[in-house]
Amino acid sequence: MPAIKTIPELLSFVWDNPHSDFYKKKYEAAGFTKGNVLKPDNFAKLPPLIRAELESTPPDERLFVKKEDVEFVAYTSGTTSGNPLVIYFSEIENHYFDPTLGTDARRILVVHPPLARNFGHTFVKQCRQAKNKCTPIFADFQNLLNSAVIAAKVKADAICTLPTLAFDLAKHIEKYYDPKAIKLIIVSSETLTAAKREILAEKFPNAKIANVYGNAEVGQFFFYPCKKMMDEKSDKFHVLNPPIMKTELVNGELVITCANNLATPLIRYRTGDYFEIVEENCSCGTPGPVLAMSGRDKIDRLRIGGVEIKVADVEKIFMPILNLTGDKYQLHFYEVDSDSGLKVKTVVEILKESKPAMFSESDISSSILKHLLDNWVLAPGTTLRNAVDKGSFTFPEIKFVDEFSLKSGKMRRLVGHFDEK
Ligand SMILES: [Zn+2]
Repeated sequence: MPAIKTIPELLSFVWDNPHSDFYKKKYEAAGFTKGNVLKPDNFAKLPPLIRAELESTPPDERLFVKKEDVEFVAYTSGTTSGNPLVIYFSEIENHYFDPTLGTDARRILVVHPPLARNFGHTFVKQCRQAKNKCTPIFADFQNLLNSAVIAAKVKADAICTLPTLAFDLAKHIEKYYDPKAIKLIIVSSETLTAAKREILAEKFPNAKIANVYGNAEVGQFFFYPCKKMMDEKSDKFHVLNPPIMKTELVNGELVITCANNLATPLIRYRTGDYFEIVEENCSCGTPGPVLAMSGRDKIDRLRIGGVEIKVADVEKIFMPILNLTGDKYQLHFYEVDSDSGLKVKTVVEILKESKPAMFSESDISSSILKHLLDNWVLAPGTTLRNAVDKGSFTFPEIKFVDEFSLKSGKMRRLVGHFDEK
Protein backbone atom coordinates (compact mmCIF):
# COMPACT_ATOMS: atom_id res chain seq x y z
CA MET A 1 0.00 0.00 0.00
CA PRO A 2 1.39 3.41 -0.90
CA ALA A 3 1.91 5.67 2.09
CA ILE A 4 -0.51 8.56 2.50
CA LYS A 5 1.29 11.84 2.91
CA THR A 6 -1.32 14.58 2.82
CA ILE A 7 -4.71 15.18 4.35
CA PRO A 8 -6.55 15.36 0.97
CA GLU A 9 -4.98 12.00 0.06
CA LEU A 10 -6.20 10.61 3.36
CA LEU A 11 -9.73 11.96 2.90
CA SER A 12 -9.95 10.53 -0.64
CA PHE A 13 -8.66 7.22 0.67
CA VAL A 14 -11.43 6.91 3.26
CA TRP A 15 -14.17 8.39 1.05
CA ASP A 16 -13.56 6.07 -1.90
CA ASN A 17 -12.56 3.10 0.22
CA PRO A 18 -13.87 -0.26 -1.10
CA HIS A 19 -13.64 -1.92 2.33
CA SER A 20 -15.33 0.51 4.70
CA ASP A 21 -17.75 3.44 4.46
CA PHE A 22 -17.27 4.32 8.11
CA TYR A 23 -15.98 7.86 7.56
CA LYS A 24 -18.05 8.46 4.40
CA LYS A 25 -21.28 7.70 6.27
CA LYS A 26 -20.16 9.84 9.19
CA TYR A 27 -19.35 12.83 6.99
CA GLU A 28 -22.42 12.44 4.80
CA ALA A 29 -24.57 12.42 7.92
CA ALA A 30 -22.96 15.75 8.82
CA GLY A 31 -23.90 17.17 5.42
CA PHE A 32 -20.64 16.77 3.55
CA THR A 33 -20.12 15.73 -0.05
CA LYS A 34 -16.87 14.43 -1.44
CA GLY A 35 -16.16 17.82 -2.98
CA ASN A 36 -16.43 19.79 0.23
CA VAL A 37 -14.80 17.14 2.42
CA LEU A 38 -11.65 17.65 0.38
CA LYS A 39 -11.61 21.44 0.74
CA PRO A 40 -8.79 22.27 3.15
CA ASP A 41 -10.87 25.03 4.73
CA ASN A 42 -13.46 22.48 5.78
CA PHE A 43 -11.08 20.19 7.62
CA ALA A 44 -11.66 21.81 11.00
CA LYS A 45 -15.43 21.45 10.45
CA LEU A 46 -15.34 17.70 9.95
CA PRO A 47 -17.00 16.02 12.91
CA PRO A 48 -14.30 14.65 15.18
CA LEU A 49 -14.00 10.96 15.86
CA ILE A 50 -14.49 9.82 19.42
CA ARG A 51 -13.42 6.64 21.11
CA ALA A 52 -17.02 5.60 21.78
CA GLU A 53 -17.67 5.47 18.01
CA LEU A 54 -14.76 3.12 17.51
CA GLU A 55 -15.93 1.00 20.42
CA SER A 56 -19.50 0.74 19.19
CA THR A 57 -18.57 -0.08 15.59
CA PRO A 58 -17.49 -3.69 14.99
CA PRO A 59 -13.81 -3.54 13.96
CA ASP A 60 -14.50 -5.25 10.62
CA GLU A 61 -16.84 -2.41 9.66
CA ARG A 62 -14.11 0.16 10.18
CA LEU A 63 -11.34 -1.75 8.45
CA PHE A 64 -9.94 0.18 5.50
CA VAL A 65 -7.69 -2.50 4.03
CA LYS A 66 -8.22 -6.09 2.91
CA LYS A 67 -8.72 -8.55 5.77
CA GLU A 68 -5.51 -10.37 4.92
CA ASP A 69 -3.59 -7.12 5.23
CA VAL A 70 -4.31 -6.88 8.94
CA GLU A 71 -0.93 -7.54 10.46
CA PHE A 72 -2.02 -7.67 14.09
CA VAL A 73 -4.78 -6.62 16.43
CA ALA A 74 -4.29 -4.46 19.50
CA TYR A 75 -6.68 -3.65 22.29
CA THR A 76 -6.83 -1.35 25.25
CA SER A 77 -7.29 -2.57 28.78
CA GLY A 78 -10.77 -1.10 28.87
CA THR A 79 -10.40 0.29 32.35
CA THR A 80 -11.19 3.85 31.33
CA SER A 81 -14.62 3.12 29.93
CA GLY A 82 -15.11 -0.51 30.90
CA ASN A 83 -15.09 -1.50 27.24
CA PRO A 84 -11.88 -2.62 25.56
CA LEU A 85 -11.22 -0.96 22.25
CA VAL A 86 -10.02 -3.27 19.48
CA ILE A 87 -7.79 -1.73 16.82
CA TYR A 88 -6.63 -3.38 13.62
CA PHE A 89 -3.16 -2.61 12.36
CA SER A 90 -1.80 -3.05 8.87
CA GLU A 91 1.90 -3.01 8.20
CA ILE A 92 3.52 0.25 9.15
CA GLU A 93 6.50 1.09 7.01
CA ASN A 94 8.12 3.65 9.23
CA HIS A 95 7.35 4.62 12.80
CA TYR A 96 9.77 7.58 12.78
CA PHE A 97 10.36 7.14 16.52
CA ASP A 98 13.84 6.89 17.99
CA PRO A 99 13.57 4.94 21.27
CA THR A 100 17.04 6.19 22.33
CA LEU A 101 15.72 9.77 22.21
CA GLY A 102 19.04 10.83 20.72
CA THR A 103 21.08 9.53 23.68
CA ASP A 104 23.79 6.90 23.47
CA ALA A 105 21.67 4.29 25.28
CA ARG A 106 21.44 1.13 23.17
CA ARG A 107 19.90 -1.65 25.29
CA ILE A 108 16.44 -0.85 26.47
CA LEU A 109 14.87 -2.94 29.20
CA VAL A 110 11.14 -2.85 28.51
CA VAL A 111 8.98 -3.22 31.61
CA HIS A 112 5.83 -1.79 30.18
CA PRO A 113 2.51 -3.67 30.13
CA PRO A 114 1.00 -2.13 26.96
CA LEU A 115 4.22 -2.64 25.00
CA ALA A 116 4.49 -6.20 26.26
CA ARG A 117 0.85 -6.97 25.53
CA ASN A 118 0.27 -5.37 22.13
CA PHE A 119 3.17 -3.54 20.64
CA GLY A 120 6.25 -5.65 21.31
CA HIS A 121 7.07 -6.47 17.70
CA THR A 122 6.42 -2.93 16.46
CA PHE A 123 8.69 -1.63 19.20
CA VAL A 124 11.40 -3.99 17.96
CA LYS A 125 10.92 -2.45 14.53
CA GLN A 126 11.17 1.06 15.96
CA CYS A 127 14.44 0.14 17.68
CA ARG A 128 15.85 -1.25 14.41
CA GLN A 129 14.59 1.64 12.24
CA ALA A 130 15.96 4.35 14.50
CA LYS A 131 18.97 6.34 13.44
CA ASN A 132 20.52 5.06 16.66
CA LYS A 133 19.95 1.32 16.25
CA CYS A 134 19.14 -0.19 19.62
CA THR A 135 17.88 -3.42 21.14
CA PRO A 136 14.80 -3.87 23.27
CA ILE A 137 14.82 -6.49 26.01
CA PHE A 138 11.29 -7.42 26.98
CA ALA A 139 11.49 -8.11 30.67
CA ASP A 140 8.72 -9.28 32.94
CA PHE A 141 6.57 -6.52 34.38
CA GLN A 142 4.98 -9.05 36.72
CA ASN A 143 8.34 -10.15 38.07
CA LEU A 144 10.52 -7.13 38.66
CA LEU A 145 13.23 -9.08 40.44
CA ASN A 146 13.69 -11.25 37.39
CA SER A 147 13.66 -8.13 35.22
CA ALA A 148 16.52 -6.65 37.26
CA VAL A 149 18.55 -9.84 36.91
CA ILE A 150 17.98 -9.81 33.14
CA ALA A 151 19.02 -6.14 33.04
CA ALA A 152 22.30 -7.08 34.74
CA LYS A 153 22.97 -9.98 32.37
CA VAL A 154 22.52 -7.92 29.21
CA LYS A 155 23.97 -4.73 30.73
CA ALA A 156 20.87 -2.72 29.93
CA ASP A 157 21.51 1.00 29.79
CA ALA A 158 17.94 2.23 29.41
CA ILE A 159 14.54 1.37 30.83
CA CYS A 160 11.16 1.91 29.22
CA THR A 161 8.43 1.68 31.84
CA LEU A 162 5.59 3.35 33.74
CA PRO A 163 6.48 5.77 36.56
CA THR A 164 4.91 3.50 39.18
CA LEU A 165 6.81 0.43 38.00
CA ALA A 166 10.09 2.37 37.81
CA PHE A 167 9.86 3.07 41.50
CA ASP A 168 9.54 -0.63 42.38
CA LEU A 169 12.00 -1.76 39.75
CA ALA A 170 14.64 0.57 41.22
CA LYS A 171 14.76 -1.46 44.43
CA HIS A 172 15.63 -4.61 42.47
CA ILE A 173 18.09 -2.84 40.18
CA GLU A 174 19.90 -1.58 43.29
CA LYS A 175 20.17 -5.13 44.57
CA TYR A 176 20.89 -7.10 41.39
CA TYR A 177 22.39 -4.56 39.01
CA ASP A 178 23.65 -1.00 39.10
CA PRO A 179 21.29 1.99 38.90
CA LYS A 180 24.25 4.11 37.70
CA ALA A 181 24.46 2.02 34.52
CA ILE A 182 21.09 3.37 33.38
CA LYS A 183 21.45 6.36 31.06
CA LEU A 184 17.88 6.78 29.96
CA ILE A 185 14.48 6.19 31.54
CA ILE A 186 11.54 6.41 29.17
CA VAL A 187 8.25 6.72 30.99
CA SER A 188 4.71 7.09 29.71
CA SER A 189 1.04 6.55 30.47
CA GLU A 190 0.86 8.15 33.91
CA THR A 191 1.22 11.71 35.12
CA LEU A 192 4.88 12.35 35.80
CA THR A 193 4.79 14.89 38.62
CA ALA A 194 7.82 16.90 39.71
CA ALA A 195 8.04 14.75 42.85
CA LYS A 196 8.05 11.52 40.87
CA ARG A 197 10.66 12.90 38.51
CA GLU A 198 12.82 13.84 41.49
CA ILE A 199 12.54 10.34 42.95
CA LEU A 200 13.50 8.78 39.62
CA ALA A 201 16.47 11.13 39.28
CA GLU A 202 17.59 10.15 42.76
CA LYS A 203 17.25 6.41 42.08
CA PHE A 204 18.95 6.62 38.68
CA PRO A 205 21.50 9.42 39.04
CA ASN A 206 23.00 9.07 35.54
CA ALA A 207 19.74 8.78 33.64
CA LYS A 208 18.04 11.32 31.46
CA ILE A 209 14.31 11.07 31.98
CA ALA A 210 12.16 11.08 28.87
CA ASN A 211 8.47 11.52 29.44
CA VAL A 212 6.79 10.35 26.24
CA TYR A 213 3.16 10.15 25.18
CA GLY A 214 1.33 7.83 22.88
CA ASN A 215 -1.82 5.75 22.73
CA ALA A 216 -2.99 2.37 21.55
CA GLU A 217 -5.07 3.94 18.78
CA VAL A 218 -1.94 5.23 17.06
CA GLY A 219 0.03 2.26 18.36
CA GLN A 220 3.23 4.04 19.34
CA PHE A 221 4.72 6.98 21.18
CA PHE A 222 4.30 10.20 19.20
CA PHE A 223 5.08 13.03 21.62
CA TYR A 224 8.65 13.06 22.87
CA PRO A 225 11.15 15.38 24.53
CA CYS A 226 14.32 16.56 22.80
CA LYS A 227 17.65 16.54 24.58
CA LYS A 228 17.21 20.13 25.63
CA MET A 229 13.85 19.35 27.27
CA MET A 230 15.34 16.36 29.08
CA ASP A 231 18.27 18.45 30.32
CA GLU A 232 15.88 21.11 31.54
CA LYS A 233 13.79 18.40 33.26
CA SER A 234 10.73 20.03 31.73
CA ASP A 235 7.58 18.18 30.85
CA LYS A 236 7.35 19.45 27.34
CA PHE A 237 6.84 17.51 24.15
CA HIS A 238 7.65 17.70 20.49
CA VAL A 239 5.13 16.22 18.07
CA LEU A 240 6.45 13.36 15.95
CA ASN A 241 5.41 14.44 12.46
CA PRO A 242 5.08 12.08 10.63
CA PRO A 243 3.37 9.83 11.72
CA ILE A 244 1.11 12.51 13.19
CA MET A 245 -0.15 14.56 10.21
CA LYS A 246 -2.04 17.13 12.18
CA THR A 247 -2.32 18.09 15.83
CA GLU A 248 -5.21 20.25 16.99
CA LEU A 249 -6.18 21.40 20.45
CA VAL A 250 -9.96 21.75 20.66
CA ASN A 251 -10.88 23.38 23.97
CA GLY A 252 -7.57 22.02 25.20
CA GLU A 253 -8.27 18.43 24.11
CA LEU A 254 -5.70 16.86 21.85
CA VAL A 255 -7.21 15.94 18.47
CA ILE A 256 -4.95 14.06 16.08
CA THR A 257 -4.95 12.98 12.48
CA CYS A 258 -2.76 10.02 11.62
CA ALA A 259 -2.63 7.79 8.56
CA ASN A 260 0.35 5.64 9.46
CA ASN A 261 -1.90 2.66 10.06
CA LEU A 262 -4.12 2.35 6.99
CA ALA A 263 -6.22 -0.38 8.59
CA THR A 264 -7.56 2.19 11.08
CA PRO A 265 -6.79 5.71 9.91
CA LEU A 266 -7.58 8.36 12.51
CA ILE A 267 -9.09 11.60 11.29
CA ARG A 268 -9.62 14.32 13.88
CA TYR A 269 -9.51 11.75 16.64
CA ARG A 270 -10.26 13.08 20.11
CA THR A 271 -7.73 11.57 22.47
CA GLY A 272 -9.41 12.56 25.74
CA ASP A 273 -6.11 14.03 26.92
CA TYR A 274 -5.53 17.71 27.48
CA PHE A 275 -2.52 19.73 26.41
CA GLU A 276 -1.50 23.31 25.91
CA ILE A 277 0.91 24.91 23.48
CA VAL A 278 3.65 26.39 25.60
CA GLU A 279 6.04 27.47 22.85
CA GLU A 280 6.43 27.62 19.10
CA ASN A 281 9.71 26.40 17.67
CA CYS A 282 12.01 24.96 20.31
CA SER A 283 15.56 26.30 20.30
CA CYS A 284 16.79 22.78 19.46
CA GLY A 285 15.72 23.52 15.89
CA THR A 286 12.81 21.08 15.65
CA PRO A 287 9.98 23.08 14.07
CA GLY A 288 6.39 23.11 15.26
CA PRO A 289 4.55 23.63 18.51
CA VAL A 290 5.91 22.57 21.89
CA LEU A 291 3.19 21.04 24.01
CA ALA A 292 2.75 20.38 27.70
CA MET A 293 0.10 18.24 29.30
CA SER A 294 -2.56 20.14 31.21
CA GLY A 295 -3.81 18.64 34.40
CA ARG A 296 -6.85 16.48 33.83
CA ASP A 297 -9.88 17.60 35.78
CA LYS A 298 -10.95 15.12 38.47
CA ILE A 299 -7.85 13.01 37.80
CA ASP A 300 -4.96 15.38 38.36
CA ARG A 301 -6.88 17.99 40.31
CA LEU A 302 -10.02 18.22 42.41
CA ARG A 303 -11.86 21.11 43.98
CA ILE A 304 -13.44 20.38 47.32
CA GLY A 305 -14.29 22.52 50.37
CA GLY A 306 -13.05 25.62 48.57
CA VAL A 307 -9.62 24.08 48.14
CA GLU A 308 -7.87 22.89 45.00
CA ILE A 309 -6.07 19.56 45.47
CA LYS A 310 -3.44 18.87 42.83
CA VAL A 311 -1.72 15.56 42.30
CA ALA A 312 1.67 17.29 41.94
CA ASP A 313 1.30 18.91 45.38
CA VAL A 314 0.10 15.69 46.99
CA GLU A 315 3.07 13.74 45.69
CA LYS A 316 5.42 16.42 46.99
CA ILE A 317 3.87 16.13 50.45
CA PHE A 318 4.18 12.34 50.44
CA MET A 319 7.77 12.35 49.20
CA PRO A 320 9.43 12.51 52.64
CA ILE A 321 7.27 9.65 53.97
CA LEU A 322 7.56 7.24 51.03
CA ASN A 323 9.58 4.95 53.32
CA LEU A 324 6.30 4.50 55.25
CA THR A 325 3.73 4.47 52.48
CA GLY A 326 5.62 3.15 49.48
CA ASP A 327 4.55 4.57 46.14
CA LYS A 328 1.23 2.72 46.22
CA TYR A 329 -1.16 5.08 47.90
CA GLN A 330 -4.44 6.61 46.80
CA LEU A 331 -6.36 9.53 48.29
CA HIS A 332 -10.14 9.56 48.46
CA PHE A 333 -12.08 12.73 49.21
CA TYR A 334 -15.63 12.81 50.62
CA GLU A 335 -18.00 15.51 51.79
CA VAL A 336 -19.52 14.60 55.15
CA ASP A 337 -22.37 16.32 56.95
CA SER A 338 -21.70 17.49 60.49
CA ASP A 339 -23.38 19.81 63.00
CA SER A 340 -21.09 22.59 61.87
CA GLY A 341 -21.82 22.09 58.14
CA LEU A 342 -20.05 20.16 55.41
CA LYS A 343 -16.57 18.87 56.13
CA VAL A 344 -14.04 17.30 53.81
CA LYS A 345 -12.96 13.83 54.77
CA THR A 346 -9.77 12.38 53.31
CA VAL A 347 -9.06 8.66 53.30
CA VAL A 348 -5.52 7.59 52.45
CA GLU A 349 -5.43 4.04 51.14
CA ILE A 350 -2.06 2.32 51.28
CA LEU A 351 -1.41 -1.06 49.72
CA LYS A 352 -0.42 -3.57 52.39
CA GLU A 353 2.26 -4.97 50.09
CA SER A 354 4.17 -1.70 50.18
CA LYS A 355 4.03 -1.21 53.97
CA PRO A 356 7.47 -1.75 55.57
CA ALA A 357 7.36 -4.96 57.61
CA MET A 358 9.24 -3.64 60.63
CA PHE A 359 6.58 -1.14 61.69
CA SER A 360 3.06 -1.80 62.87
CA GLU A 361 0.13 -0.31 60.96
CA SER A 362 -0.79 1.92 63.87
CA ASP A 363 2.75 3.30 64.23
CA ILE A 364 2.86 4.05 60.53
CA SER A 365 -0.58 5.63 60.60
CA SER A 366 0.29 8.02 63.38
CA SER A 367 3.55 9.08 61.70
CA ILE A 368 1.76 9.65 58.39
CA LEU A 369 -1.04 11.54 60.09
CA LYS A 370 1.35 13.83 61.91
CA HIS A 371 3.28 14.52 58.73
CA LEU A 372 0.16 15.29 56.72
CA LEU A 373 -1.40 17.56 59.36
CA ASP A 374 1.72 19.71 59.65
CA ASN A 375 3.00 19.70 56.08
CA TRP A 376 -0.04 19.70 53.84
CA VAL A 377 -0.64 23.32 52.98
CA LEU A 378 -4.17 23.63 51.64
CA ALA A 379 -4.05 27.36 51.03
CA PRO A 380 -1.45 30.00 51.80
CA GLY A 381 -1.01 29.99 55.57
CA THR A 382 -3.43 27.10 56.13
CA THR A 383 -2.14 23.64 56.93
CA LEU A 384 -4.37 20.62 57.13
CA ARG A 385 -4.09 20.89 60.93
CA ASN A 386 -5.46 24.46 60.82
CA ALA A 387 -8.31 23.27 58.59
CA VAL A 388 -9.10 20.44 61.02
CA ASP A 389 -9.04 22.89 63.95
CA LYS A 390 -11.38 25.23 62.09
CA GLY A 391 -13.69 22.34 61.31
CA SER A 392 -13.60 22.42 57.50
CA PHE A 393 -11.65 19.15 57.24
CA THR A 394 -11.82 16.01 59.39
CA PHE A 395 -8.77 14.09 60.56
CA PRO A 396 -7.62 12.03 57.60
CA GLU A 397 -8.16 8.31 57.85
CA ILE A 398 -5.28 5.96 56.97
CA LYS A 399 -6.34 2.56 55.64
CA PHE A 400 -4.14 -0.38 54.73
CA VAL A 401 -5.79 -2.30 51.91
CA ASP A 402 -5.11 -5.34 49.72
CA GLU A 403 -6.44 -3.49 46.69
CA PHE A 404 -7.35 0.13 46.07
CA SER A 405 -11.08 0.80 46.13
CA LEU A 406 -10.61 2.42 42.72
CA LYS A 407 -8.64 0.13 40.48
CA SER A 408 -7.56 1.30 37.05
CA GLY A 409 -4.92 0.47 34.50
CA LYS A 410 -3.27 3.80 35.10
CA MET A 411 -2.42 4.61 38.69
CA ARG A 412 -5.07 6.98 40.05
CA ARG A 413 -3.80 9.14 42.91
CA LEU A 414 -6.85 11.28 43.63
CA VAL A 415 -10.44 10.09 43.73
CA GLY A 416 -13.32 12.48 44.45
CA HIS A 417 -16.59 11.14 45.86
CA PHE A 418 -18.68 14.27 45.55
CA ASP A 419 -20.40 16.39 42.91
CA GLU A 420 -18.24 19.24 41.73
CA LYS A 421 -20.09 22.51 41.82
ZN1 LIG B 1 13.47 20.74 21.17
